[in-house]
Amino acid sequence: MHRRPCWVEIDTRAFEHNYRLLAASVPAELLAVVKANAYGHGLALCGPAAIRAGARWLGVTTVEEGIEARALCPTAEILVISGPFPGQGQAAIKHRLTTVVWEPWHLAELQEAARLVGCGPQSVPIHLELETGMNRQGVAVAGLEALLKHLPADGPLKLDGLLTHPFAADEPDNLVTNEQLALVAQAIQLIHSAQLRPAWLNIGNSASILSGPVRNALLHSASNAGLNLMLRPGLALYGLSPEFSATVPNETPITALQAQLQPVLTWKTRVVSLRNLSPGQVVGYNGTFVATEPMRVALLAVGYADGLRRALSNRGSALIAGERAPIVGRISMDQTVVDVTDIPGVRVGDEAVLLGSQSSASSRQTISAEQHARLCETIPWEVFTSIAERVERVPV
Ligand SMILES: *Cc1c(COP(=O)(O)O)cnc(C)c1O
Repeated sequence: MHRRPCWVEIDTRAFEHNYRLLAASVPAELLAVVKANAYGHGLALCGPAAIRAGARWLGVTTVEEGIEARALCPTAEILVISGPFPGQGQAAIKHRLTTVVWEPWHLAELQEAARLVGCGPQSVPIHLELETGMNRQGVAVAGLEALLKHLPADGPLKLDGLLTHPFAADEPDNLVTNEQLALVAQAIQLIHSAQLRPAWLNIGNSASILSGPVRNALLHSASNAGLNLMLRPGLALYGLSPEFSATVPNETPITALQAQLQPVLTWKTRVVSLRNLSPGQVVGYNGTFVATEPMRVALLAVGYADGLRRALSNRGSALIAGERAPIVGRISMDQTVVDVTDIPGVRVGDEAVLLGSQSSASSRQTISAEQHARLCETIPWEVFTSIAERVERVPV
């Protein structure tokens, strides 16, 4: 059976290109963040693409996602970023997932699971998250020594990495990041005093790869501590750069890097039907759009249940025949109407692009996730992860 025409095309080669581009730009291990169904792009497509591009590490949110990633990528190292939940220890160990931990009960959960499974000493890797100012997850330096006492050398858990999250790497100065790195240095001293030797300093998102000063600070911190640096790009792998505050000094190599990122996702639907409107006729719920002149409008097979945000009503556009067709009236759950008055020759079945680029003989237009985000007062991350599961992910 043919499907309802609302799908996203995933350019896996663009994804691979982005990974290779970032990896070549910095002397560090790059963990590919493929959490939340690869930012809505499809884990089944992007997980294997990351491995093809040379990634050894994948980052997922949960043990559930980790199990999916393991089935797709048998040899990858897989990091569970949000930590284990109660009762997930055995599954994490069985599927060889490295979990992020910071609570004593995380350690107890994994230790008990390791005992039940019969793991030997130092056989279950963990990455310990350090709280460095974001106050989201992680153990504070003050609580570190007590937590490290739960990691005896003859126990099953192996401290493989120390992790923290630079939460202001897109800001104009390095003040916050430098404070975070000072805490990291203190933590590493305590860890070394406890005779623990983690391999990785696991830190950094897209912004910290694309901001020269931050990436240099991270490289220094890792080399001072004698640890290998692991960076964790997400958004940039999907072809977008985080927006830096306007006062961040532009560095030519970094700007060049940003310019070479390639968008991975194109969201498409088709024209379902067409009608003409006379002046005074309205469109959609509550008639928020009123035709003031004769118009031609097209119905598209997409709505807010697909993740096309209702805030785009009367504000966003779709691309048809390489031209912008403004959304008119309120976006419905499953349907959206666009104005095609100025686009000659539109026919039922024509492709419409909601996110991405479209060309015609005479023009090429792009609607970016940044544009959607701006119109909806949100961020591209939320635009991508809002695309519903029922929208098929198709590799191209
Ligand atoms: C999501 C996430 C990232 C990736 O962030 P981007 O800004 O998308 O590059 C990195 N680290 C952690 C801990 C995350 O949760």
